Amino acid sequence: MPPGETMRAGVFKAVGRITLSSLPVPVPQPGQVLLRVEACGVCGTDNHIFAGELTDGVHPPVVLGHEIAARVERVGAGVSGLAKRQLCAVDPVIGCGACRMCHSGRPNLCADPTVIGYKLNGGFAQYLLAPANKVVPLAESAGVAGGVLCETLACVINGYDRLGLRAGGVALVLGAGTVGLLWTALLARSPVSPLLQTEIEEFRRRKALRMGADVVLDPAAGGFEQSLRSQLPEGADYIIDATGDPSAIQQALPLLARGGTLLIFGVCPVGSQLRIDPFELYNKEARIVASKMPPGTLARSARLIESGAIPCQEIVTATLPLSQLARAVASFNTWRDRQVKVAINPWE
Ligand SMILES: [Zn+2]
Ligand SMILES: [Zn+2]
Repeated sequence: MPPGETMRAGVFKAVGRITLSSLPVPVPQPGQVLLRVEACGVCGTDNHIFAGELTDGVHPPVVLGHEIAARVERVGAGVSGLAKRQLCAVDPVIGCGACRMCHSGRPNLCADPTVIGYKLNGGFAQYLLAPANKVVPLAESAGVAGGVLCETLACVINGYDRLGLRAGGVALVLGAGTVGLLWTALLARSPVSPLLQTEIEEFRRRKALRMGADVVLDPAAGGFEQSLRSQLPEGADYIIDATGDPSAIQQALPLLARGGTLLIFGVCPVGSQLRIDPFELYNKEARIVASKMPPGTLARSARLIESGAIPCQEIVTATLPLSQLARAVASFNTWRDRQVKVAINPWE
């Protein structure tokens, strides 16, 4: 590609404002890779940024988008092992490299990370730059949908590790959006039984069943708590929140089994609260754990996707042109009844 070319990009300018702009195609510096975006997933966090609910580490004007499926276009000096057109995903979390968390291999907990799609331009553009060590090659079998889901699945794999799963437990997943369905895909292949899930939308409940959930219940239906309790006579050994809704977690808390683990995975609003009875936690010897972003788990995510274990096509339900970006980001919550993961193709 000749220098001086321009590309189309959706630029987040301010709260409530994403505009289509023409930007120069960036030039890869030593150690960087220029990636041609195939598609980029719209995430709940993009919606939170757009709505002004998430500002930490976001530096507008910036191109959002951190769920990136791309192909190698050009490499900067010193980069080897990446052939042109290689399909890849991007690990968006760049730790400062100098803090205690970065030094202990947990860049996701770095206090001052540089995140692609928050601070550095992300995937809602035709091209982006990424450090070569954040480019994760994918076999063609992963497909573009696999590339789009690779980062989210890497987050789920981190949560899975933190859950400390033991064979023979009962699991309950709250919510069947992208994250909830990825959890179902993993847990359906794990030695847990039964695998229960809750979801308000009929469309998503059907997907959860197809992904391998044993029972999927509607929390808005009459008698919900009773039917859930009857499915869980001794409680759930693992409760995974994939809703980010404190009231859903609150409702499920009494169902935590003795010795059980609650995983806070969904992103709840800043400052929201749960009521916890410490005696009940003590009495059950229960654990509450959390997980945040991927700590370098994208290579494992890539292997799993390449293996065909994750029905990515079931989860990426629409790919829209870049002109629809602002609408897709703003509609994240209103499309729940008909979409799961919406991706943007910047070439359309
Ligand atoms: Zn995301
Ligand atoms: Zn750091």
